[in-house]
Amino acid sequence: MKQKIAALFKQIHGRDAAVITRAPGRIEFIGNHTDYNGGTVLGASINRGVCVAIAPREDGKRNFFSEFTGKMVTLDASANGKQSGEASWINYPLGVIEALPAFGLKVPQGFDYVATSDLPTGAGLSSSAAIELASGLAFLAITGQQADRETLVKIGKHAENNFVGVPCGILDQGVSGFGKENSLVFIDCRGPRFDTVPLPAGAHFWIFNTHTKHALVDGLYATRHRECMEAAKTLGVSLLVEATPEQLDAAKDKLSADAYKRAKHVVDEIARVGRAVDVLKQGDLSSVGHLLTASHLSSQTLFGNSTEELDFLVDTLSRTLNVFGARLTGGGFGGAVMALTSEAFGDAQAREVADAYEAKYGVRPDILHMLTGEGAQVL
Ligand code: ADP
Ligand code: MG
Repeated sequence: MKQKIAALFKQIHGRDAAVITRAPGRIEFIGNHTDYNGGTVLGASINRGVCVAIAPREDGKRNFFSEFTGKMVTLDASANGKQSGEASWINYPLGVIEALPAFGLKVPQGFDYVATSDLPTGAGLSSSAAIELASGLAFLAITGQQADRETLVKIGKHAENNFVGVPCGILDQGVSGFGKENSLVFIDCRGPRFDTVPLPAGAHFWIFNTHTKHALVDGLYATRHRECMEAAKTLGVSLLVEATPEQLDAAKDKLSADAYKRAKHVVDEIARVGRAVDVLKQGDLSSVGHLLTASHLSSQTLFGNSTEELDFLVDTLSRTLNVFGARLTGGGFGGAVMALTSEAFGDAQAREVADAYEAKYGVRPDILHMLTGEGAQVL
């Protein structure tokens, strides 16, 4: 990817890039709707991501180019307003620039910029966090500044929350920033605190993206959030992470049936993340797989954020050879299913799963095969 973006940069801007950076996309491995409840989550940084090439300019002009649109947009360094339409992708790097002073860092003035990607956008793999982190590293490099990983992660989140306007948690940027090949990223969302957990050899990730999306998804997220906060209040804790399974069961009569189910999913899911860390350390991928499938069942029966299509994929995958486990990944109410498989699971088996889905629903899910990859870095 480095040679490709270097050549593209030269072709577009007629000179060499000064710095090239790269940041990966991510998969939510396990830890579903735990982040805003103060819980823990495991994510995988994948071997696909966004590259940014950059060189400073003296004239205060910012020239943005992305392979995506194939068009150049020139903005003055003083023009920091939000972009719309075809240029709205520029809000990601602009949001990063806008975030820098909040972290005591200088903003870059003029520059030539190019972004490329081998990560599908809008597929739940967080290309948005990847472009934020790759841009953040690029801007720091051309201004001769350094920031630790945690600051870079927070800059990306700040950009997405405040400038782009998406209320994401810390998972997307945290995994892109702290990712390591052959590892998963563990995040304790309360700190936040970041760590890596080695992934046993031979683990492969397959994503089946249904492209389905519940029409009311934003409202459903808000409802789930409210139900979790209500349950925490009834339990006398500030966030559900502080509640034990025993406390929750003792308070069952005081909670509405729905609030109990949502809280049970969250409390159990946080426990599953802890168990996943333990069995990963023992190199036991079969047990990890069972936890993934248990997480999905909990989404289906307790949190109510699965769909018939996602259940079908998980069910089909669970009965397929060489699959350790499968679950919906991301917020749910549509989207994608992730399967953790051994090396022996291949294209032919993935196609069979997609065939079965297509025979039932008349559309084919996208299939993506991935491994883990390195976190955000200057190449
Ligand atoms: P996701 O993060 O799941 O991929 P989002 O809607 O949050 O989906 O972010 C996708 C958006 O990120 C794209 O529509 C685009 O604006 C921006 N983006 C990601 N990668 C690039 C890139 N290489 N060049 C330009 N824009 C990008
Ligand atoms: Mg995103």
